[in-house]
Amino acid sequence: MKTSEIIKEADQYLLHTYNRYPVVFERGRGVRLYDTDGREYLDFAAGIAVFGLGYGNETYNAALKDQIDKIIHTSNLYYNEPMAEAARKLAEASGMDKVFFTNSGTEAIEGAIKVARKYAYLKDGGTDHEIIAMKHSFHGRSMGALSVTGNSHYQEPFKPLIGGIRFADFNDLDSVKALINRKTCAVILEPIQGEGGIYPATEEFLRGVKQLCEEQDILLIFDEIQCGMGRSGYMFAWQEYGVQPDVMTCAKALGCGVPVGAFVLNQKTAERSLVPGDHGTTYGGNPLACRAVSTVFDLFESEHILEHVRETAPYLEQTLDGLVEEYDCLEARRGRGLIQGLVVKGRPVGEVVKKCMENGLVVISAGSDVLRFVPPLVITKDDIDEMAGKLRAALAS
Ligand SMILES: *Cc1c(COP(=O)(O)O)cnc(C)c1O
Repeated sequence: MKTSEIIKEADQYLLHTYNRYPVVFERGRGVRLYDTDGREYLDFAAGIAVFGLGYGNETYNAALKDQIDKIIHTSNLYYNEPMAEAARKLAEASGMDKVFFTNSGTEAIEGAIKVARKYAYLKDGGTDHEIIAMKHSFHGRSMGALSVTGNSHYQEPFKPLIGGIRFADFNDLDSVKALINRKTCAVILEPIQGEGGIYPATEEFLRGVKQLCEEQDILLIFDEIQCGMGRSGYMFAWQEYGVQPDVMTCAKALGCGVPVGAFVLNQKTAERSLVPGDHGTTYGGNPLACRAVSTVFDLFESEHILEHVRETAPYLEQTLDGLVEEYDCLEARRGRGLIQGLVVKGRPVGEVVKKCMENGLVVISAGSDVLRFVPPLVITKDDIDEMAGKLRAALAS
């Protein structure tokens, strides 16, 4: 089918919940994408912070093909080897204890919310517990995750949401303190806010929230769905500060392309929350998805992904800082490692994204005015130079 025919068919049969760019991606190689008209794009979006390893990694592809030929699905009524391996590697990488695999990020958040409520319920039998979330956060689109997402535009038409959610100001410890009461069962936050506009938490804030939670036996939930899996230069963004949560959610780059998420608990939380019958999923932990997770952890080690991110990220920061100085329409840079944002002023960020696409550069936006850079973790300095060239061309047009 021709490009225009594919788009026409998709628009006819898909529910219109996305305004897609009129491009059909057909294949990828490394950090490059190719569309059905044979055009090449440099990819600084990685399918929204998913494809950490780049496209077409041979080891990864071979592992998945091997797993397809063995078995794809068994259900959670039985054990399977990739699930056991993936859980061990995720626990080891985080220094945490118990893993529940989901199929997406939003489902991982749902699980984390249930864990928090059950933990508090077992303590006092109450059914009116509250969760403190952050303004400008993003945790997903299902009803529970939407309820802790600090964006009224996303929430409004779908009310009533789940009850007992209060919103604090990110990086403002006093605003968290002010919301804590005897009903509070959890604080949930992204160590680096992604969709909201790339806002890293300060070390002081993370440490302060951790201390408050410890003092009052409130669960601390970190959403590492976007900033985790090496993107910050650490496997999980909280590791830079040594502030470990009680519950962590993962997805996006966890499977590097295969849909999979997880919530991970420390021992204390695992022992006093969900028990058999409390939670489940048909697909979660299936051998194909878990083989992907397991292979991703192996490749992070054998291809020294964290070291590479730490080596490459300063060059990306320096390049973006240079662009901020050069262009009046770029106001500031924010981010850590390979999750970076440029604040665009004086022109709609959507227009800049479109111009970049026309110049063969895939980038996305975050918040209302931020150009977001979440490239595959394997990008090189040459790729960064090429990105800057394409961005300059886009800004000039
Ligand atoms: C993308 C994202 C989610 C939701 O994940 P899905 O897989 O789209 O459901 C949740 N939290 C954060 C921080 C995200 O970036």
